[in-house]
Amino acid sequence: MSSWRDTTCGVLSKADVGKKVTLAGWVDTRRDHGGLVFVDLRDFSGKVQLVINPERAPEPASVAHEIRNEFVIQVEGEVVNRAPEAVNPNLPTGEIEVQVETLRIVSRSTPLPFQVGDDVDDVLRLRYRWLDLRSDRMQRNLRLSHVVIAGIRRAMDGMGFVDVWTPSMTKGTPEGARDFLVPIRLQPGTFYALAQSPQLFKQLCMIGGLDRYYQIATCWRDEDLRADRQFEFRQLDLEMSFVDRQDVLDVMEEAVVGAFLAAGREPPPRPFPRMSYADAMAKYGSDKPDLRFGLEIEDATALTRRSEFGVFKNAPAVRYIVAPRAFSRAELGRLEEIAKEWGAKGLAYLVNDGGEIRSPIAKFLSEEELKQVQPEPGNTTLFVADEEATVSRVLGGLRLHLARELELMETGEELFHWIVDFPLFERDEDSGQWTFLHHPFTAPMPGDEGFESDPGSALSQHYDLVWNGWELGSGSIRIHDAELQQAVFRVMGMGEEEQQAKFGFLLDALAMGAPPHGGFAMGIERFVTRMAGEPDLRQIVAFPKIASGSDPLTGGPTPMPDSVLKELGIRALQAQAPDDR
Ligand code: ASP
Repeated sequence: MSSWRDTTCGVLSKADVGKKVTLAGWVDTRRDHGGLVFVDLRDFSGKVQLVINPERAPEPASVAHEIRNEFVIQVEGEVVNRAPEAVNPNLPTGEIEVQVETLRIVSRSTPLPFQVGDDVDDVLRLRYRWLDLRSDRMQRNLRLSHVVIAGIRRAMDGMGFVDVWTPSMTKGTPEGARDFLVPIRLQPGTFYALAQSPQLFKQLCMIGGLDRYYQIATCWRDEDLRADRQFEFRQLDLEMSFVDRQDVLDVMEEAVVGAFLAAGREPPPRPFPRMSYADAMAKYGSDKPDLRFGLEIEDATALTRRSEFGVFKNAPAVRYIVAPRAFSRAELGRLEEIAKEWGAKGLAYLVNDGGEIRSPIAKFLSEEELKQVQPEPGNTTLFVADEEATVSRVLGGLRLHLARELELMETGEELFHWIVDFPLFERDEDSGQWTFLHHPFTAPMPGDEGFESDPGSALSQHYDLVWNGWELGSGSIRIHDAELQQAVFRVMGMGEEEQQAKFGFLLDALAMGAPPHGGFAMGIERFVTRMAGEPDLRQIVAFPKIASGSDPLTGGPTPMPDSVLKELGIRALQAQAPDDR
């Protein structure tokens, strides 16, 4: 080892008793007992207790009074047994301590804004991230992230995938999110976009004969930041030629299993179960259902077609869930508020209070209706009647809310599943125009190639991977035929000229011998966040941004001086920095 240390703090044990060691690290805590000074010394490998005895080591003892938390020190000393009553069974090195002979302050620290590992506000942690990174939590998470990625890379390599680097700066293409733009000084007034994903490049790799491409690719999307979203993130991005859906799903499952094994965890059983998009929406009101609990949505549309209760009779869809609790009036009021936030007009209910039905609508329901929807004692049936999409959204949201509120999720269970058979197109809510559900390069289901006459009913060869209610990623079999690709663009309202301007290069490539191909992309940070049991991406990304889009550490983003902008052919409308160049 170096002159700074010959071993590390966390590895010392009883086996080392009697050894002379040189250690270097951070002062985790210092306890001054008048005479003896105890220091917990920390490095990446863990902590060890140092004892500084003024009688044996007078000079180190006087230096020890000066040291404060997070000073960097170097010590030499002997590993000794702790007295039996001083053994700390909670610390891996708790049976020993190091009797210090020399002590040197290597680096001092100003007073700390918080103690390492303290549960303080996230923004404060991010402002001083270098301190926060020293915590057990961040050390564990960043190392887990590394191990997971290494496991994925091994799996991909083992399956014959080739790591190809694709550009970060690309031509802006519509892929669903807003682009981050990069002005180009050599061509003022023009922009590249930061790649939202390597989608088209990986397809071009297939047309270029690579056969199996993968990359741990950084992607940029200008979207609002949330627990599971950052502006920039990485994905396991892959593409394969001459494959069917099954081949892609197999590869992804293998990569997930590889990551679990690398992290020393029991992998989820294969094959991962599959569910159609239609079933997911109908039964769980979500295309990323959490299957760790029941509360399935039931349908009462047919049953209520001739109902005396007008709200049910006239609604395009009537569906319900049965919650394992007889809710009070106040609780029902709160649930209705929540349902309204998701777009419901109201929330009808039947409460079974020990055999007695409590409900303003029971009197309108026929015996036959009641027989089917009446809850068991101690349960409540909650109904939403509306357009099908609204019903799904509201009951899907209520389902998740109730699971959290009533603690129905079986923790510890790791459920992976595929959602398949998505629609090819959906209506854009604002324009009413048909648009792609995922991206416009997804192939229709075999048999649905004639989608132009009825875009709404065509299914696609798109699939999503879901882990306990988190969408981990998506993929599809792609269109490998220029004509078919143009048909998709036409349905989206794109004329020939616009198609050529935006995607001419893709259409040219598809017309020059494109193999059938398909692929997938899985969010690495989302995956690691779940793996680490953390609530959000910020806990596993070294230097994340906060919800406002700012970086509390560096203070970015910042305005730019006019002279810089001018060179790029840009004029800022707001927040321009003074020109101090
Ligand atoms: N490019 C897609 C995405 O980033 C994934 C894919 O279809 O392979 O979501």
